[in-house]
Amino acid sequence: MKAHDGMYIGGEWRGAAGTDTIAVVNPADEQVIAHVPAGIAEDVDAAVFAAHEAFPAWAATPPAERAARIAALRDVLVARKDEIAETVTAELGAPLQFSQTVHAGVPILVAGSYAELAASYAFEEKVGNSIVYAEPVGVVGAITPWNYPLHQIVAKVAPALAAGCTVVLKPAEDTPLTAQLFAEAVHEAGIPAGVFNLVTGLGPVAGQALAEHPGVDLVSFTGSTAVGKQIGATAGGAVKRVALELGGKSANVILPSADLAKAVGVGIANVMGNSGQTCSAWTRMLVHTSRYDEAVELAAEAAAKYGDRIGPLVNAKQHTRVRGYIEKGVAEGARLVAGGPEAPREQGYFVSPTVFADVTPEMAIAQEEIFGPVVSIIRYEDEGDALRIANGTVYGLAGAVWAADDAEAVAFARRMDTGQVDINGGRFNPLAPFGGYKQSGVGRELGAHGLSEYLQTKSLQF
Ligand code: NAP
Ligand code: MG
Repeated sequence: MKAHDGMYIGGEWRGAAGTDTIAVVNPADEQVIAHVPAGIAEDVDAAVFAAHEAFPAWAATPPAERAARIAALRDVLVARKDEIAETVTAELGAPLQFSQTVHAGVPILVAGSYAELAASYAFEEKVGNSIVYAEPVGVVGAITPWNYPLHQIVAKVAPALAAGCTVVLKPAEDTPLTAQLFAEAVHEAGIPAGVFNLVTGLGPVAGQALAEHPGVDLVSFTGSTAVGKQIGATAGGAVKRVALELGGKSANVILPSADLAKAVGVGIANVMGNSGQTCSAWTRMLVHTSRYDEAVELAAEAAAKYGDRIGPLVNAKQHTRVRGYIEKGVAEGARLVAGGPEAPREQGYFVSPTVFADVTPEMAIAQEEIFGPVVSIIRYEDEGDALRIANGTVYGLAGAVWAADDAEAVAFARRMDTGQVDINGGRFNPLAPFGGYKQSGVGRELGAHGLSEYLQTKSLQF
């Protein structure tokens, strides 16, 4: 795989300040495929300086022109779609077809949506005797995870640029090649020097330096709740804007009137896609006691069918962690009906699609984010019980409700403490706000709500 040995700062690839590098590993065969520089505080300083210098001109660029540049970026992503998919497959391990449709396809949709929004958004509004302006917040520090390497970047950078902000990105250490490819695309799209900057590196070094940097006006973080809490505290101390997109433990609620086969089948596929490494995955399946045994059978079948279509987990640490959770589930008394803790292949960080039955709501496998291909099927007695279980975690990122008609599902969804719910298998909408209730985070990404995160208001009275 092609890799840059520098950082993309101020519109060019510059030598890194330090000499340490990060080895990029293909999780399907455990081979090192490239090395990228491990950034240090000096690299972050240079990048924040470049972003700061570029800010006034970019903020003053008419929205229609910013929109044109984002559209050009979208076009480069389209032209390089295959290369993106191959890169994601090489460093994340996702099956190539999933990389093409989801890892490359979704960011193209999102970039396109922000090209349109930048052109159409009302950046000023008349309120009585005032004009209210929506102005860019300034320099954004973006810190992203590896699970959707390009989507997580585009979901922050596209709205930030649409708003008129400039950006320094610290991508996940496991997936820096996709981030370098994105920086190339930014360059090719003619986005002015310093508007977007990339510093590859380790979280506790480059990530922390970025989150703490006094020149950063807003920190947008996606990743684990533990790191998110720390970043939120740092931002709070500096009275700095912060957006946090953290973990989830979402419920797939199957009401008694639902089409059971469909609800179970879609539910299993929802978790197994990306090997369960999706923060919004419906990892808890809630089924009424009258249909429980049938659901368990359908789920075990669906998981077994998924079999070898599943990709590996991202790294050795996640491989150990996820298999540890499966062992814990067995130890807690849950009944394994598909998969298990054994590694299904000799090479690569693979885990078989795993389904647990007889899971009770308080078990660790029903409470904690596993981030692997593991579904817990939980029994409920009535709707009140289902709602208590669905809402009974510290998280509130996503969910699903299935019923014979949409109205019945909507009535239940409205009582869920969660940021987004798919009704009877609703489709992904790149314009719908995405984000969490409770400890799943602060702020929203995507669509107009995502854009407004990067804006602050000023009112002039006449
Ligand atoms: P993580 O450590 O929170 O990583 C997210 C990003 O934050 C990465 O770029 C990471 O850099 C960086 N980071 C780490 N420590 C930091 C610090 N002290 N200051 C600033 N930035 C820092 O998450 P992870 O280790 O990749 O995954 C662990 C768990 O997080 C998973 O098992 C899963 O439960 C959860 N997770 C959630 C999401 C989500 O979308 N909500 C995504 C990924 C993971 P490095 O890459 O160098 O660590
Ligand atoms: Mg980490």
